Amino acid sequence: MAHAEAAAKFNENEAKVNWHDKALWFVRQKRDKQAHKVQGWEQLRDYASALKANVLSNLDSYLVQFEENAKKNGVIVHWAANAEEHNKIVHSILQKHNAKKIVKSKSMLTEECHLNPFLEANDIEVIDTDLGERIVQLAQEPPSHIVLPAIHKTKEEVDELFQEHLGTKPSGGNPEYLTREARKHLRSKFLQADAAITGVNFAVADTGGFVVCTNEGNADMGAHLAKVHIACMGMEKLIPQEKHLGIFLRLLARSATGQPITTYSSYFNKPEEGKEMHIIIVDNGRTEQLSREDFRRSLHCIRCGACMNTCPIYRRSGGHSYDATIPGPIGSILSPGKDLTKHSSLPFASTLCGSCSDVCPVKINIHEQLYKWRQIIVKEVPQPFVKKIVMKAAGSVLAKPKTYDFVGKSTRFMLKHTPKSLINSKINTWGHARDLPEVKGDNFEDWYKKRQKNE
Ligand code: SF4
Repeated sequence: MAHAEAAAKFNENEAKVNWHDKALWFVRQKRDKQAHKVQGWEQLRDYASALKANVLSNLDSYLVQFEENAKKNGVIVHWAANAEEHNKIVHSILQKHNAKKIVKSKSMLTEECHLNPFLEANDIEVIDTDLGERIVQLAQEPPSHIVLPAIHKTKEEVDELFQEHLGTKPSGGNPEYLTREARKHLRSKFLQADAAITGVNFAVADTGGFVVCTNEGNADMGAHLAKVHIACMGMEKLIPQEKHLGIFLRLLARSATGQPITTYSSYFNKPEEGKEMHIIIVDNGRTEQLSREDFRRSLHCIRCGACMNTCPIYRRSGGHSYDATIPGPIGSILSPGKDLTKHSSLPFASTLCGSCSDVCPVKINIHEQLYKWRQIIVKEVPQPFVKKIVMKAAGSVLAKPKTYDFVGKSTRFMLKHTPKSLINSKINTWGHARDLPEVKGDNFEDWYKKRQKNE
C-alpha cells in the first residue's frame, strides 16, 4: 500500500490522529527547551556531523581498529554482510550455549533483520524488554517510532492488551498499575534468560567498547544477568574516540526525548569472568548507501527520532503508514535505497519544509535528500498514468507566462462557478480533505498593474 493510502487509514480515527500529533509535538518542544539550554548547541551539531563524516570516509580503518580493540578486551567479533547472515550468527551462538530463552533490549537493527520471527521459528523465546517494544510485541505489530515504539497506542489499548496477555485486572488505563505489572512480568523473564541481546548506540574505535542507552535499565539488567551478551550493531555506529562520547550523548538524549541525559548510558567493554560477550557488525545495505554520493550522509543518523517528532506528515500519518523498519523522514531516505519500487511513495511523504534537517543533531540534509530521491524515482519507477499527464500539462503551463496567465484566469472563473460538492467530492482527492479559500477576481499581475495606475 502506498504511503498516502495507509495514512488515510490512520486518519480515519480523527481523535487518535490529533492526540498522536500533540504527543509528538510535545516531545519536539521538550527537545527545543533542552537544546536552548546548552550553550554551543549548534557547535555540538557541527562537531558531531564532522566526526560522522570522518568516520564514513575512513570506515575501513575504524572498523578494523574497533575489531582489534574489542578482541583485545576478550569480546568475540562477528561480521554479517546481510540480515540472513546476522540471524544465522545469532542463532549459532545461542545453539552453542543451548539458549532457549532470550531477553532483548531495543535494537532497530534486529527489527531490520527480522530477528524475532527467525528465532521464534527455531523454537527460541525472544522477549522484548523495553516497555514500548513489549507492548507492540504483544500486539504483534512492528514499532511505529524508533524511540517511542508504542506511541500510536492509547493507555486504554495497552490496558486491554495486558488483560489479554498478562492477565491483569481492568484499570481504565492506569499507567502506574500497568507499568508495575509490566515490571513484574519482565522481571521473571530477566531471571530466566539464557542470553541477552542488545543494540549498540555508539561503538568506540579506540577502545573497542560500546555504549547502550536506555531509560529503563533493561539492557543492563539483561546483559548482567545472562551468561551470554550479544550486541548487534550497524557498521555506521562507530565514533573515533572515547572523548567524542560527550558530544554524542549530549545530543542524543536531548534530541530524542528532551532529557538532559538518558537515564542509563552503559559502557560495555569486556565480558565478566565466566561469561561471553559477542559483537555482530552488520552491513545489510550500508556499503551500498555509502557509495551513493547524494545519500551517504544519511548514515550519520544516530536514531534519535527528532525528525519524526517534528515532521507534520509523520505526526498525522503514524509510523506504520511507512511500511518500513525506520519510518519518518530518515526512513524515507533509507528505505528506497533497499527497495526503490516498494518504497517509491515515501520520499513524497514530505512537505519539504526542512524542519527535519533543522532539528537533526548530526545535521543531515534530510529534505534535500528526499527531493533527490524524488528526481530518481520519477525516472526509474513507473508513475501512475494520470500523474504523468497532469505533470506534463503543469510543466508546459508553468513554462509559458502567457499560457500560465490564461489558465490562471480560466481556473479562477471555473472555481467560482463550480459547485462545492464537486470540488470536495471523492473524485478530487486534493479537495477531499481541504477547503479552498474564496477565489479573488484578479491575479497578482492585474492587482499590481491597477495599483500602479492608481498611484
Ligand atoms: S536523521 Fe537526524 S533527526 Fe532523524 S533520527 Fe537520525 S539523527 Fe535523529
